[in-house]
This record gives sequence, C-alpha cells and structure tokens, in this order.
Amino acid sequence: MARLCKAIRKDGVPCAAYALAGSDYCFTHDPSLVTKRAAARRKGGRGKRGKGLVRVLPDGVGNLSLDSAEAVRALLESCIGWALRGELDRHSLHEITYAANATIGALKVSALADRIAALEKRLSKKAAEE
Ligand SMILES: [Zn+2]
Repeated sequence: MARLCKAIRKDGVPCAAYALAGSDYCFTHDPSLVTKRAAARRKGGRGKRGKGLVRVLPDGVGNLSLDSAEAVRALLESCIGWALRGELDRHSLHEITYAANATIGALKVSALADRIAALEKRLSKKAAEE
C-alpha cells in the first residue's frame, strides 16, 4: 500500500495525501517540486473550463492500491486539494470521483460476499452438528 506524505500542514495536522513514488512527500509538499507546482498553478490560471490545466496526475499517483475505503478517501482528499489549488482540472476530478465511487461499490460488494461466505460456513457447520 502507498505511503502517506510526511509533511505537517500549516494547521498542524499531518498531511493525509499519498507520498509520490520515490519521495517522502506528496505533490504539494515535496520540496523538489517547487518549480513544477508553480508551473501547474500558472497553467491552472489559463483558459476556461479547465483548458490548459494538467490532465495527468503527478508521478506515482497511478500506482495506488485502492484496497480500502481509507485508501480511496486519502486519494479523494489529495485530488480535491489539487483541484482547489488549480493543479487538477474539474474534468479529471470528476472522472476520479466517479472511479472512486465505483471502487467503493466494489469494496462494499466484496465485504458483503465475505460476510455471506462466513455465515454460510457457520450455517453448514451448525447443520452438520444437528
Ligand atoms: Zn503532503
């Protein structure tokens, strides 16, 4: 599973975004990405309806393991932060949110299937005892 950023935010709360591959920090806090962030902000200010915004997530984001609701929540928190700072366009945020909802749905189905399998196992064990 991906590691979380080691930065402490301005409000004193630890950053909950994912660290980039090969870094201890997320896109927002990685000190080596100062110029890349500035470029993303400049691009973010251009055009209408997201035109000119970066439509590719920062390096390392595509390698996330979304195997829990917490992991999906952390991804959405990162993406919302990027979008609010003008580093991610609305269209990409919408697509990511849609995929995150589908992932949550799949996680729910998987959890229910596990519960049903456990119940069936208990029932068949009980039936064998009677
Ligand atoms: Zn961070």
